[in-house]
Amino acid sequence: MKKQVVANLKMNMTSSEIKNYIISLAPKYKDDKVELTLALPYVSLELGRFMLDGTTFALGAQNLSDEERGAQTGEISGAMLKDIGAQKVIVGHIERRVKFKENGKTINKKIKIALKNRLQVVLCVGESLTDKNSLKTISTIASQVDEALKGLYENELENIIIAYEPVWAIGSGKNATVKEIETGIKAIRKAVENDFSKKAAEEIGVIYGGSVNAKNISQISSCRGLDGVLVGEACLDSGVLMHIMTAFAGGAKK
Ligand code: PEP
Repeated sequence: MKKQVVANLKMNMTSSEIKNYIISLAPKYKDDKVELTLALPYVSLELGRFMLDGTTFALGAQNLSDEERGAQTGEISGAMLKDIGAQKVIVGHIERRVKFKENGKTINKKIKIALKNRLQVVLCVGESLTDKNSLKTISTIASQVDEALKGLYENELENIIIAYEPVWAIGSGKNATVKEIETGIKAIRKAVENDFSKKAAEEIGVIYGGSVNAKNISQISSCRGLDGVLVGEACLDSGVLMHIMTAFAGGAKK
């Protein structure tokens, strides 16, 4: 798969700010080795659709409802995201697992709805610090992957990218080491192999997220089996995001 950089803007910018952000980003993007997805807040998706038209950037959403339609005040459906032009959607981010109590069942429902609406899914998995300290990294990743992908057909995996996001590395300024990232990637691929097949495990896209920045991207991009990165805080500076894209394009190995 093409190398991926997913920029999760979270709830950091208004639409006016996003407009200026995209204006400053687009001319700096000279390389098409990496696909950049801008995961925008719902209210900025329409703006994103117009501004990204004619660029190689992909439009992403940060969440979707676990119901298809109906009396769900304040929620946004997969069909609505597709209709507004979103191509990808993040599911299972730790901020939603913790704050909005999203569990494996909810995440599995969201993935099925996203796929039904022909949205690509960026599924986030990763262990907490407590899991890490009690040597449960691999088992935590395996159970999160199992729960999330339950009941899917193998051919649906081509529309899923799994992000290894150790909870302790998100927004903390402490990125995982190359060894830790490679362990996470292997654990994800092993879980996919157990649930589907060796071929599926080799082919599925796996990216890393957790305090990726301009300083550590060269090292992170050297991780074996890594198809990309998910960037939070650092993507808010368009210059830093471009640096990350360029460094990743030059460094990732299979
Ligand atoms: C994230 O929230 O998924 C993330 C990777 O954030 P940060 O880059 O800020 O750690």
